[in-house]
Amino acid sequence: MSEKKNDKEQMMEKIVSLAKRRGFVFPSSEIYGGMAAIYDYGHYGTMLKNNIRDAWWKHMVQLRDDVVGLDSAIFMHPTTWVASGHVGGFNDPQVDCRKCKSRFRADHILEEFGVSADKQTLEFINAELDKLRAVGKLKCANCGSTDLTSAKTFSLMVKSNIGSPTDELKEENVVYLRPETCGGIYLEYKNTVDSLHLKLPFGIAQVGKAFRNEIVARQFIFRTREFEQMEMQYFLHPSVMKEKYDRWKDTRWQWYLEYGISESEIRWYKHEKLAHYASEAYDIEFNFKALGGFKEVEGIHARGDWDLSQHSKFSGVDLSYFDEKTGKRFIPHIMETSVGLNRLVLMFLDHAYQEEKAPTADGSEETRVVLKFDKRLAPVKVAVLPLSKKEDLQKVAKEIWNTLKLNFQTEYDETQSIGKRYRRQDEIGTPYCVTVDFETLNDQAVTVRDRDSMKQERIKITGLEEYLKEKLAE
Ligand code: ATP
Repeated sequence: MSEKKNDKEQMMEKIVSLAKRRGFVFPSSEIYGGMAAIYDYGHYGTMLKNNIRDAWWKHMVQLRDDVVGLDSAIFMHPTTWVASGHVGGFNDPQVDCRKCKSRFRADHILEEFGVSADKQTLEFINAELDKLRAVGKLKCANCGSTDLTSAKTFSLMVKSNIGSPTDELKEENVVYLRPETCGGIYLEYKNTVDSLHLKLPFGIAQVGKAFRNEIVARQFIFRTREFEQMEMQYFLHPSVMKEKYDRWKDTRWQWYLEYGISESEIRWYKHEKLAHYASEAYDIEFNFKALGGFKEVEGIHARGDWDLSQHSKFSGVDLSYFDEKTGKRFIPHIMETSVGLNRLVLMFLDHAYQEEKAPTADGSEETRVVLKFDKRLAPVKVAVLPLSKKEDLQKVAKEIWNTLKLNFQTEYDETQSIGKRYRRQDEIGTPYCVTVDFETLNDQAVTVRDRDSMKQERIKITGLEEYLKEKLAE
């Protein structure tokens, strides 16, 4: 058990350190001492995140004829969150250690003891905690003290104010930063149908920021207070719910396989206790090395007609759909797919991270760290590396870079030894390194090194772009 913990902690440390050292992810506001569970994305992290987002968008919108896009505002009318049940109801159960002041999620504590507190009441949770307390098993994971409070609810909603500064303290100016992106989809359902003349079933997809005042925030970018979600709400007649739900489950599962995740790394988690309006709920869990096991990355939920019914009721606007075939009106039912973009960044980093033995220039061996991303997700596709800083090599290398960068995210690097430059590109997961050497001046060819096999091939400069295009599409 303790060995496993060490493995996972070591792995997390390696990922966090690489992410910072190589410009993927930085702790936010570090020069002011940082802010818990808030992170910034550097050059490579931004590109990796954008590539994951684009891969999701491609499969959810571009390749389909039944899903359209949306980008709704973070601020929404405050009644939105009353209608959805978030105001007053979006809470986590919190337990504090009286000795060291650490905070925990009570449902997570119970999970460790095999008790599911999913959608359970505070009474249930406290009764289960009391059972553990009675046998001395309820301990602070930080300091070991048994002096823990009982669970109380903690709202996850993040408040803000809008209006003129003098109005700031007025209750009616309080707005919430959205805790999930799908609220915006429900509010724009009618405009989307009316403007695009959509017929059921269809989906609306969006990517955007969401905010939650998370109690426990110690898992790097797995759980943060500001994060991005990629959500798709599929509107349909309840008679086709089962069929569409099963199809979407399969579609989302295949997406992970498409981008290099293997069947053994993901699994389904079935929610046994459902919200009263829901008919089915599954999560896709990924086996994180850095978190020591399977954790949720995506939820796929059949939500009934709850969302549109509530917004219809609270806004007074009719959100029903007129079915031309039957001549009847009904409130569409919804199934959703909801995934955290930042969580996927961690998943792909965790999946791609490898340490391998690799030969050095002088014939000995060293350990190389390499991020074996799917090529489409890799932040940089090609690096152009002149063997030396000699002017004639620089000139050819820069010409190659100037051509390639028009089509691929390409990097030019002439600092330090070629070995060090290869290692640097391995660490950011660049699939191909193009080396310009002295021979290039005679044979008009370059060496292309493959990130994964480290094999090198001599390629004529005239055919280089085509060669890389084909390789990157493999
Ligand atoms: P949990 O129970 O772990 O707090 P949840 O089940 O409430 O999460 P959902 O509301 O279903 O999560 O959110 C859908 C997806 O959004 C999750 O699968 C996850 O990928 C992502 N997500 C939710 N909260 C966070 C967060 N604080 N940081 C990063 N991603 C998040």
